[in-house]
Amino acid sequence: MNHSSKAIIIGAGVGGLAGAIRLAVQGFEVSVYEKNNYPGGKISKLEMDGYHFDMGPSLFTQPQLIEELFALAGEPMEDFFSCQQLPVSCNYFYEDGTQVKAYADKDLFAKELATQLGEKESSLLSYLKMSGKIYNDIGTVFLNHSLHKRATLFKTKILKALRATRWSYLFRSMHKINASYFTNSKTVQLFDRYATYNGSNPYKAPAMLSMIPHLEHNQGAYYPKGGMISIAKALYQLAVKKGVQFYFDSPVQSIIRHEKKVRGVTVNGENIKADIVVSNIDVYFTYAHLMKDVNRSHKILKQERSSSALIFYWGIKKEFPELGLHNIFFSKDYKAEFDHLFRLKKMYDDPTVYINITSKCEPGSQAPHGKENWFVMVNAPANVGQDWPSYREKYKRAIISKLNRILQTDIEPLIEAEEIMDPVLIESKTGSFRGSLYGTSSNTGMAAFLRHPNFSKTISGLYFVGGSVHPGGGIPLCLQSAKIVSELVAKDIRKH
Ligand SMILES: Cc1cc2nc3c(=O)[nH]c(=O)nc-3n(C[C@H](O)[C@H](O)[C@H](O)COP(=O)(O)OP(=O)(O)OC[C@H]3O[C@@H](n4cnc5c(N)ncnc54)[C@H](O)[C@@H]3O)c2cc1C
Repeated sequence: MNHSSKAIIIGAGVGGLAGAIRLAVQGFEVSVYEKNNYPGGKISKLEMDGYHFDMGPSLFTQPQLIEELFALAGEPMEDFFSCQQLPVSCNYFYEDGTQVKAYADKDLFAKELATQLGEKESSLLSYLKMSGKIYNDIGTVFLNHSLHKRATLFKTKILKALRATRWSYLFRSMHKINASYFTNSKTVQLFDRYATYNGSNPYKAPAMLSMIPHLEHNQGAYYPKGGMISIAKALYQLAVKKGVQFYFDSPVQSIIRHEKKVRGVTVNGENIKADIVVSNIDVYFTYAHLMKDVNRSHKILKQERSSSALIFYWGIKKEFPELGLHNIFFSKDYKAEFDHLFRLKKMYDDPTVYINITSKCEPGSQAPHGKENWFVMVNAPANVGQDWPSYREKYKRAIISKLNRILQTDIEPLIEAEEIMDPVLIESKTGSFRGSLYGTSSNTGMAAFLRHPNFSKTISGLYFVGGSVHPGGGIPLCLQSAKIVSELVAKDIRKH
């Protein structure tokens, strides 16, 4: 490779940061242009009256993907980043008073499901075995490669994975498979929730997604010291160390192309040349705004968006010993909830409530002593013009009354600080089309194949990373997308 080759990355989300590190290690002179005045994109923070909040993602799995970046860059990770495995990945609460602790220790978790929900202990163990098998036989191959290059498709590993694919796992729903393993509808609901890890509907999403619990229960859930924001900070610092130049408050206006080859980008009216351009922004906006490509953007519009969220950041002036880092308060009728989110595109009156409390892991530093920082999230449909101001009010009431019922408390007088985020704000803050959290949904067996590739089929030198393209949303997959792009770039260089 020519060592003066220039790469431009549009957006400093986790995919953009990982892409910048990888390309810098490959020898590119890398510049990142970011619309906001901070790196991290959806990983961002809020400080309010002594309370600290992660504004976006809260669940962290697969720390080995971060370790891999540090190893690749030849830097000691412990100088930048550390995390701890959680002994309990989530506390589950049901309306009838049932509580379940998802212990990291599989035998303990199996016993908990037996005691609280009457499941056979062997059911959990065989479910997690199946989950691990799908991930290892199929998931790793599909998530690590571009599915859109013919040469890759014929690779032995892919052919082997396709042969290992049980077609029923593509065409049966995740809910159906879960219901075939467990007898209690509460356990089924617990495992159906994993479809929301990429913003999908368990009653439509393929059973292939039942590989997701493997990541949390066979590999483990982690808490990064300092909260999720430390992931963005660490990757940013590593990128700077590797010589990446960052330009903040610098929205890219267009991608310059000539004779089917990318030539650079326009920022603040100035044309900046580059040999390759990697877009880390939502692929819909890349085509619609930066390339004015009506046909492509319309094609993407046809794909269903993943769900979005309504989030309340609450400073709570009390401690709740029954809660942990991750807590779920389930809706009574999960099917109706997803029907509202995806078919009716409405909020559901009794939403499942997720509460993340990082002060449980770092008391005194994430919230004042004796108090807790509650990140309270309910799933919401992607924005198609719903009345969000009235939803905010209505769902604040619904959440409070659900928590009061289940926790036997009175939450409202305990809220001493509040900030709210809805899908419209998610779109304006992070550039995610319609505020969806994970790009397009995975509600069909073919969704994985329809997701936009990590490269442009028509413009050479143009690549894509992040949650709206292959292999999908969520921090681990965004990190994978950067790996796929760096491999594609290396191959393209060898070809030319
Ligand atoms: C509320 C919420 C909860 C979530 N929960 C989890 C979770 O628990 N676990 C998990 O793994 N994932 C979770 N996710 C998903 C995860 O956050 C995302 O998949 C991931 O962070 C997206 O990274 P990305 O690389 O796609 O970039 P993004 O974070 O989407 O960043 C894109 C960047 O591009 C910038 N940009 C946009 N337009 C331009 C332009 N024209 N020029 C320059 N820059 C531009 C934006 O400002 C932004 O910084 C959650 C997301 C949200 C919002």
